[in-house]
Amino acid sequence: MKLAIAGFHIESVSFLPNTSQYADFEEGALRGASILEGLGGTNTVLGGFLEVCEARGATPFPLVYAYLGAMGRVADNVIERYTDEICRGLVEIDDLDGVLLHLHGAAWAPGYEDPERYMIEAVRRTVGDDVSVMVGFDYHGNLDADSIRAADAVFAYQKSPHTDMDETGRRTADCMVRTLNGEIHPRCVLVKPGVLTPSIFSATQLNPLAEILAEARRLEQEANGYLDISVMAGFSYADATNTGFSVIAVTDDDSEGARGIATTLAERIWRQRRELYRPEPIYALDDAVEHAMALAPHVDKPIVLLEHADRMSDSTYLLDALIKRGAQRTAVPFLWDPEAAEAAAAAGVGATTTLTLGARSSHKAGPRLTVECEVLQVEPKSYHVSGAMLRGSYVNLGLSALLRIGDIMVSVISRFAFGVDEDAFTVFGQNPRDYDLIVLRSKTHFRQVYQDLAEEILIVDTPDYGPADLLSLPYERLDTRRIYPFVELAAKAEAR
Ligand SMILES: [Zn+2]
Repeated sequence: MKLAIAGFHIESVSFLPNTSQYADFEEGALRGASILEGLGGTNTVLGGFLEVCEARGATPFPLVYAYLGAMGRVADNVIERYTDEICRGLVEIDDLDGVLLHLHGAAWAPGYEDPERYMIEAVRRTVGDDVSVMVGFDYHGNLDADSIRAADAVFAYQKSPHTDMDETGRRTADCMVRTLNGEIHPRCVLVKPGVLTPSIFSATQLNPLAEILAEARRLEQEANGYLDISVMAGFSYADATNTGFSVIAVTDDDSEGARGIATTLAERIWRQRRELYRPEPIYALDDAVEHAMALAPHVDKPIVLLEHADRMSDSTYLLDALIKRGAQRTAVPFLWDPEAAEAAAAAGVGATTTLTLGARSSHKAGPRLTVECEVLQVEPKSYHVSGAMLRGSYVNLGLSALLRIGDIMVSVISRFAFGVDEDAFTVFGQNPRDYDLIVLRSKTHFRQVYQDLAEEILIVDTPDYGPADLLSLPYERLDTRRIYPFVELAAKAEAR
């Protein structure tokens, strides 16, 4: 059994002004044997594909893997070049049986309404109808029935934090192998509930989402035959015609059954749309800082202040407020600022110097701060992820510095990364438990570590590109007239 393997991944905040280019993807792109070496045994979708190939005696043909995390939009030619490369690679493989793809689902390019649909359809045109095509998606992908029509079956992560990336690869590849062996005939149906939620509330431990996902798992367990369900939260910061939740059910030769199950769950999501949109309180900046600083002396564990609207890991709203109030025992890990890292290197370890810090990505990232700080460390840093999400993957932070501003410890990095696990501290020889206050910028992935490590998590809304208030975003492609929360506004306007 010959299975081609490829991946293209980016989560695009379409409202951000910056555009990822081909060279940005190429910096970390893997091809051929380097995919086997780099991703075998990791908690990634391709890691899961490879595991199943090995276990089931299938021969993998790894083509290309181009991966960026949460960034801005993508240049059109990036979509075209990787699609062409994948298709050229497919033509080269004689007697190919199947194609396993890993796509995010929320890539956004100016000239492509649905980049993932374009890629899947190009693959289908290349291999024809006799070769099976299956896709593993991110839980934050934006899809509709047309996006996946050219695939035989698709799957998405069932957890956020995404601790089940490899498991998703295994589910996808397992379906592929069973299909090619003639054991099952997959039928895949996608239903849209017409609901958006901000990423901060897409964490799968939060209710009512956790209960909806538990129902999906129960349905799978109680099913007579093969059943796989993906509930996708979608990605509200990529403005697409299909932004928002999706429910996908894959059955064995039972399209009606798949449609019934996906519809039942989609209807539940619609019924619980208000709780899904706002399951926990949101703090204004000053209220959060005041609450955290008052609470800190009375608790043993750190308090996490979550600057979640920051999409580029360089917002300064919270850091500015904490400096002004003289916060103690405070850590601000992984502030992205290559220029500040260079300036710290020029000053040298042990120097006290004045730097401008943060807010490089856009005018919405807060004030650019001028700070006096001590340079405690400065050198290129990299590590392999120890946390459950992307476990084992290589992260290169580039030139990095650890700075002390009063009693606030700020680590500055030159290559974009979100602090989601303890690595953000240990790479600088630090321990998150030594701090009273920790500023993070993750949406859901930090919860794998910080849900237990933290005394309290305060969600702070700042005026950045990923706000909790989706009504404030200037959607153009999404037809908001039929989508919650916009539909509620429209109804109120009509009633007046
Ligand atoms: Zn995701």
